[in-house]
Order: sequence, then C-alpha cells, then structure tokens
Amino acid sequence: MVQKVEKVYEGKAKILYTTDDPDLVIQYFKDDATAFNAAKKGTVGQKGIMNNKISTKIFEFLASKGIPNHFEKHLSDREMLVKKVEIVGVEVIIRNRAAGSLCRLLGVEEGRKIDTPILEFCYKRDDLGDPLINEGHIQMLGIATPEEVATIKKYTLAINDLMGKFFDNLGLELIDFKLEFGRYKGEIILADEISPDTCRLWEKGTGKKLDKDRFRHDLGNIAEAYQEVLDRVST
Ligand code: ADP
Ligand code: UDP
Repeated sequence: MVQKVEKVYEGKAKILYTTDDPDLVIQYFKDDATAFNAAKKGTVGQKGIMNNKISTKIFEFLASKGIPNHFEKHLSDREMLVKKVEIVGVEVIIRNRAAGSLCRLLGVEEGRKIDTPILEFCYKRDDLGDPLINEGHIQMLGIATPEEVATIKKYTLAINDLMGKFFDNLGLELIDFKLEFGRYKGEIILADEISPDTCRLWEKGTGKKLDKDRFRHDLGNIAEAYQEVLDRVST
C-alpha cells in the first residue's frame, strides 16, 4: 500500500501529494470551483468525490482502448493514485460544437456544429490568462518538441472519437473538453482529470447542460448535474 508523504502543490481544484514511491503522486479532488481565470470562485458540494469517480471511469475506459494515461488506482472518495509526470505546459482543447471562449473569440452562436473537430492549445499561464497559442509559439517557448506535439494531437483526436462515442451511448453529447499531458519515463501520457469541470456535456434531445457551465453562468442544480453524469458513467 502506497503511503502519502507530503503536500507538494495546491491548485484550484486539486491538491497533489508525494508518496513513498517516487514515480507516484496522489491527486486529492476538492469541492472548490473557479471560472473565468479564477475571477469567479465557489464550492460545489461533493464535486471532488464525483469528479474523482467520473475521472476514474474515463481513465479506465481510455486505458482499455490503448490510450496511455496516468491513472493507477482510485484510493478513496477524493484521492486518486497517479503516475507522477512532468506536465507539458499547454492545455489542449478540442471542440465538436461552438461554446464558451470560441463563441467569444469568433462571434459565433453557441451550439454551432463543427464538422471537423477544432484542436486548440492554451499556454498554461494563469498570470497571462491561459492565452490561445499555436505550434509556432510552443516551439518558440520550448514547451514541447514537434514530435511530442504530434503525439499529443494524435492522442487528443483519438480520445475525442472514443469519448464522443462513450458519452453518446450514455445519452450525452460531448461538446468540448480540455486535456493535459505529461512526460513519464520518456513517453507522453494523458494526465490531470476528465470530468464535468473539464468537459462540456449536453443531454441529447433536451440540450440540458450537465457540466461546469451551470456554475459559470449560475444555472443552478450544479451538484445534481455532476451526479447525473456520474450515474450515467456508472451504468
Ligand atoms: P490548477 O493548477 O490549474 O489550479 P488543479 O487544481 O487541477 O489545477 O491542480 C492539479 C495540478 O496537477 C495541475 O497543475 C496539473 O497540471 C497537475 N497534474 C495533473 N496530473 C499530474 C500528474 N500525474 N503528475 C504531476 N502533476 C499533475
Ligand atoms: N477548460 C478547462 N480548463 C480551463 C479552460 C477550459 O477545463 O482552464 C475546458 C472547459 O470546461 C471546456 C473547454 O475546456 O469544456 C473549452 O473551454 P473554453 O475555452 O470555452 O473556456 P471557457 O469559456 O470555459 O472559459
């Protein structure tokens, strides 16, 4: 049994702890919620527990489909044991319908179908507001090699196909989501979390939002929406 050693990082939604195994860390999922580059803050009851469970299901599913990821074990309600990676400093976003910042950027209406999914990179720099960047910027800043970027793009497109079908079977449409990747023993693997905090999910047929947009835009019933996603992925 791996032992928790010390807290090494506290972020907006999770805390990281080292363990007695140098290759493994524990992610602790909090109930804290932030939006709009942390301009809006709050808490959502039981969110950490639900996100830990939902992420576990998705990482297990993706691993079964050959996508390497950091998931090792669901340790407790709020704790997940993961491989310790060196995070690649970009957030990778993929979009199947327009929402959120894409609507603001391009002045398009929410919900517009995107036939060829759009892949975006955002520089992980809270002080700059996580700006949208391209592969030229990634090279200039030395964030990742061209080979690593190619691997990240290949995995992201494959994950979008897999997760799109996975949620479609559960009656949910995957609108967009954010991924983070890391380096582990020389390889790129998927890291962080995949949950209603990091994905937009709309109920098929009704278009009901079952994700963090309920918090962002004060739509109410936030915890209920996360629970609905958890119930569906648990079937
Ligand atoms: P933020 O840092 O944006 O506030 P979180 O609260 O989710 O976000 O904090 C979790 C942090 O842990 C993130 O910075 C994320 O990049 C990092 N992380 C995720 N998975 C791993 C991992 N397997 N190894 C090391 N760091 C990780
Ligand atoms: N996203 C995320 N973390 C971020 C930024 C975005 O998980 O720091 C997710 C977000 O939940 C959505 C997708 O990435 O599923 C696209 O987000 P968008 O760029 O539209 O940003 P937003 O409008 O949420 O600020």
